[in-house]
Amino acid sequence: MNTVPNLLFNIFDKVKKKGPNFIEQIIDGDIARGFENKDLRFRFPPEPNGHLHIGHLKAICLNFNLGEKYNSPVNLRFDDTNPEKEAKEYVDAIKNDIKWLGFEWDKECYASDYFDQLYDWATSLIKKDLAYIDSQSSEEIAAQKGTPTKEGQASRFRTRDKEESLKLFKEMFEGHHDSGKHVLRAKINMSSPNMLMRDPVLYRVMNVHHHRTGGKWKVYPMYDWTHGESDYIEQVSHSLCTLEFEPHRELYDWFLDAISPLQGVRPKQREFSRLNLSYTITSKRKLAKLVEENIVEGWDDPRMPTISGLRKRGYTPEALKNFALTVGVSKRENVIEASLLEFCIRAHLNQVAPRAMAVIDPIKIKIINYVKDGGEKINFDINPQDKTLGTREINFSKEIYIEREDFQEEPEEGFFRLSIGEEVRLKNAYIIKAVDLVADEKGNIKEVLCEYDSKSKSGSNTPESNRKVKGTIHWVSATDSVKAKINIYDRLFKVSEPGKEKGFKNEINQNSLEIKEAFVEPYLAESIEAQQFQFQRVGYFVRTANKKTLEFNKTVGLRDSWKK
Ligand code: ATP
Ligand code: MG
Repeated sequence: MNTVPNLLFNIFDKVKKKGPNFIEQIIDGDIARGFENKDLRFRFPPEPNGHLHIGHLKAICLNFNLGEKYNSPVNLRFDDTNPEKEAKEYVDAIKNDIKWLGFEWDKECYASDYFDQLYDWATSLIKKDLAYIDSQSSEEIAAQKGTPTKEGQASRFRTRDKEESLKLFKEMFEGHHDSGKHVLRAKINMSSPNMLMRDPVLYRVMNVHHHRTGGKWKVYPMYDWTHGESDYIEQVSHSLCTLEFEPHRELYDWFLDAISPLQGVRPKQREFSRLNLSYTITSKRKLAKLVEENIVEGWDDPRMPTISGLRKRGYTPEALKNFALTVGVSKRENVIEASLLEFCIRAHLNQVAPRAMAVIDPIKIKIINYVKDGGEKINFDINPQDKTLGTREINFSKEIYIEREDFQEEPEEGFFRLSIGEEVRLKNAYIIKAVDLVADEKGNIKEVLCEYDSKSKSGSNTPESNRKVKGTIHWVSATDSVKAKINIYDRLFKVSEPGKEKGFKNEINQNSLEIKEAFVEPYLAESIEAQQFQFQRVGYFVRTANKKTLEFNKTVGLRDSWKK
């Protein structure tokens, strides 16, 4: 038995047994101080403006794993406050991805369902003199913001009469004002060292159709105002977000105070580090550019770091969850090696993917001393990692294909595969020796003529079958193999931190997709969409959804080809 996969899975077991992460420590501390476990609630809050990516995976796993650990509900909340960029299509894709990962949310919520409540609270803020309508242009407002070391300046509308602000806010709501004319701002502190506290905007006029509320709203709430209040409405106890929101926490708390007295749970925001992955971009805005400019074939292109792209590429929920576990949760920003993600999928597929043979770049072999008409059956291990699966039969015949690179006419030093006068073992079959070549008039090799050792069949228990030769290669029978289209992917970016030095669009690997026509076993033609295989010696592959042609996407190679 090969023990390598067990070793790999031990690594994940070890990760699982690690002590509580810092978020869990915060929760445990709250519970120790009397917070009731039954009041715990988490949420994952995507904005439906694109597909989820590998960065979101970290946040999804964090929240849903907490739900599992504390036996607490997790809401799926769509933060849909920016109708210009959002769409139902993205809502559906996000739900589909989370389900595919195997997580179940408690309530499906939409910030847009709270627009009425948020509007009422905003009105109450005006009444409490905690908000005002500013009628300056966005340029004027920006110019007064100050800098972290220089205080901001108050708007001349800051002291505007409450009644006038209330009237204007209602008019904005009713659509009497053009966008940019007025905004509602919180009245906090123009000299706060935290720039976010310098009278942030709560509402702007936007006469835009919303995918859920249609044309009802002419004013839309800003993210900061919406987010914390939505957490409160849903009674989320721990609102977890990425580190860049740390300075927003003061505002998050101010908004909750502003609508106090609160009932029930007062949510708290805590921050963790973003997932950054080498050779990858994890920003929806940038990923959207790749889609819009047709650099990739869509959000779910197998080269995309989206959940849907990774799925098409052949990644499994198990591998992605193990990846998230291995990355862990911390407060330290770092860049995770893309090879870790590949390691995780390889570890999983090594355990579960049946083996098969496919020759991606074929060259024909004719075994001149093979006389069995119609060939014969060969036993082939379904998955040597799991002997209980046993074997299946594959066809062997006089003519076979092997990989072009497994033959060298003039072998270089250290080449142990097929060359004239040298022997090689065909996987699960016979030992062959190359004796001659057939070339076309241009000198291209058409066939390699070989002889086989008829007593050397694998598993036949003859002395010849136990004979050691230096190389073993894969093959398919030429008589019944079928053609398949193979998509082989390389990284989408040439540099490890795309966008750091130059614009990320200048760093795209132009050769990230190579299409090959392979010969594969007929067994593979019977596969169905999304079925996964290890093509022996080549890598892991997944059957695509293409119904017209037999087509496979390469998920990952058998070993880390990026290691220097
Ligand atoms: P992007 O920058 O890609 O647009 P976002 O934060 O704007 O991401 P949202 O849909 O608002 O996208 O994100 C939903 C949740 O996922 C948020 O809680 C956010 O903090 C988290 N998240 C987004 N990107 C990452 C990442 N790279 N690592 C960890 N969590 C992330
Ligand atoms: Mg966001």
